[in-house]
Amino acid sequence: MTQPPNEGLSSTAVLDLWEQGVNRHPIDRALLLLQHACPEETFESLCDWSVGARDARLLALRRDTFGDRIESYAECPDCHNGLEFDLSCEELLASAVNSGPGWRVVEQGGRSWELRGPTSRDLVAAAAATDLAAARRLILSRCVRGAGRPVDEAGWTDEVQQVLTVGLNEVDPLAEILIDLSCQVCGRQWQSLFDVVGFLWHEIQTRSRRLLQEVDLLARTYGWTEREILRLGEQRRSLYVGMALS
Ligand SMILES: [Zn+2]
Repeated sequence: MTQPPNEGLSSTAVLDLWEQGVNRHPIDRALLLLQHACPEETFESLCDWSVGARDARLLALRRDTFGDRIESYAECPDCHNGLEFDLSCEELLASAVNSGPGWRVVEQGGRSWELRGPTSRDLVAAAAATDLAAARRLILSRCVRGAGRPVDEAGWTDEVQQVLTVGLNEVDPLAEILIDLSCQVCGRQWQSLFDVVGFLWHEIQTRSRRLLQEVDLLARTYGWTEREILRLGEQRRSLYVGMALS
């Protein structure tokens, strides 16, 4: 899923988005960032984007703002050895062959269903579910329909649910990014879920805190306004910060 390079978030945009999103639910934060990245789209239409399409756009926003390389960390589930690993936004985007919006047919054991990728609206509905299994079932019930006839959810065995879940991941590959990891100490191999929205939000939060500290320092040292300081380029601001601290 290629995403052409765009301008990343400016310092002012980072702070504005952080302030607007800090008390929101992660689903709403994702939509807030998406709306900023896609000003030509209406909010209603962005709610209908599949989660994979949403996360592809947010990965591109991450690449354009903070760079392509993502340094990540996981702990071995067996021996708890720490593991540092790198991801690339480009590679993640390239790995996902999206079938585009709409319904796709999946067949199993002589039966067939039509599937579509879950959207932010489906996530909101699932967030009200009492547990993970109920949430998963709710997503399936919204994103799966019988080919030419109504879906009989009562007949869904665990096996059918498994097939449908795999099918959903194929329809919308970036909706769930699983990273293959292996422990160098005990040899355990496992998959770790990479949460694009959570990761990007954490970076926005960290960058905002640093920006506010820099504004505080430079305003006190030079008497400049927040606006003036945020309009300085990254390089120039950090040189002034160095001088103010020396
Ligand atoms: Zn281990």
